[in-house]
Amino acid sequence: MSHIFARHCHASPPTAVGGDGCYLMDSTGKRYLDGSGGAAVSCLGHSDPAVTEAVKSQMDSLAFAHTGFFTSEPAERLADLLIANAPGDLDKVYLVSGGSEATEAAIKLARQYWVEKGEPKRSRLIARKQSYHGNTIGALSAGGNEWRRQQFGPLLLDVSHIDPCNAYRLQQDGESAEDYGLRAAQALEDEVLRLGPETVMAFMAEPVVGATAGALTPAPGYFKRIREICDRYGVLLILDEVMCGMGRTGSLFACEQDGIAPDVVCIAKGLGAGYQPIGAMLCTSDIFSTIADGSGFFQHGHTYLGHPAAAAAGHAVVSAILDRDLVSRVNTQGDLLMQQLEQRFGQHPNVGDIRGRGLFRGIELVADRATKDPFDPNRGVAAKIKKAAFEEGLICYPMSGTIDGRRGDHVLLAPPFIIDDAQIDELVDKLDRAISKVI
Ligand code: PLP
Repeated sequence: MSHIFARHCHASPPTAVGGDGCYLMDSTGKRYLDGSGGAAVSCLGHSDPAVTEAVKSQMDSLAFAHTGFFTSEPAERLADLLIANAPGDLDKVYLVSGGSEATEAAIKLARQYWVEKGEPKRSRLIARKQSYHGNTIGALSAGGNEWRRQQFGPLLLDVSHIDPCNAYRLQQDGESAEDYGLRAAQALEDEVLRLGPETVMAFMAEPVVGATAGALTPAPGYFKRIREICDRYGVLLILDEVMCGMGRTGSLFACEQDGIAPDVVCIAKGLGAGYQPIGAMLCTSDIFSTIADGSGFFQHGHTYLGHPAAAAAGHAVVSAILDRDLVSRVNTQGDLLMQQLEQRFGQHPNVGDIRGRGLFRGIELVADRATKDPFDPNRGVAAKIKKAAFEEGLICYPMSGTIDGRRGDHVLLAPPFIIDDAQIDELVDKLDRAISKVI
């Protein structure tokens, strides 16, 4: 009897014992193709020798030094590498242990920035429906997915949620993608004006929405207009690239493809690639110096900030992505995966939309293609597909969340960047069999 409880109190999952490239193995010897990198984490696959070696060698020299007293070489090296490759004016890095810590830190940083700038009324955050920013209570307040939030309400922060940019659901007949992008962004300006610009501290969004929407990409021009609106009203733009960052969508930072740079960006999953728990928040020198020249320190902190072994893993992962030109590989293999998904599921009566960028792809499942009605949530379609795929030896990430906050059904695919053509065939075959068993 296990003393561990994780996601489900009654489940007894198999015991994972090993990993090899795109596969994980359990204690019975069964192999699973990791079609979602866990939750878009394992971008380099399992057992990458360069990363394990970097962690081992860091552990041999220095395992831990508290950031209240020290910085460390691996933390400095990682920060330099991130800043050298980050878009826009991002030039300060705050290292944390995961995604929720990064988004929490970003929200607090924005708040402290405005207080120190002498505009303490700026306390409101605007985020979007159908979004997920983490599971700690502040990050959960920022997320716009009702079924995740409802049992914990009232939540702590004053957050308003505007409509997401969801062309499949919200683009009107006859409206061009560009016009839709501008109309979707207008929701931000409307909300800033409704609240009063002097009360709004920041807008937070995922460039490509992951778990709660299934690799939902923005319409062309959407984020450029969002950036303009933020600039017009002095609202900070916080991008949550915890899932879609670090090469996953075909550029190191996802927002590069939208031609914008944020004031703050959060990264995590692909940064440690599963080798160590690590996340980061990057911000501009304006934000940093306002706080540094004001009270002198960001009033935040966790014990394991900038952990040397985690930082060594992050540095080895980002170096591998850059030195092995894996971002190009994400684009070629991502195109191949998309082609295969379209061939296999494009005409499926219950597949409403297939979308995404790079090796970040989503399939939206619907009860009826014509009306786009989701399945009855009580059918638990996404959960059943996850189970059927697992039995087939495929790890995929079916998740739920509809635009109106109900449970919907998506399959999210985010395989390691090293996935080859035959493994893409295997992924699509296994997923096909799993979907056929359920619907
Ligand atoms: N933000 C986004 C976009 C995520 O997808 C996630 C996790 O799925 C988080 C934040 C929270 O990250 P973590 O689970 O590492 O706390």
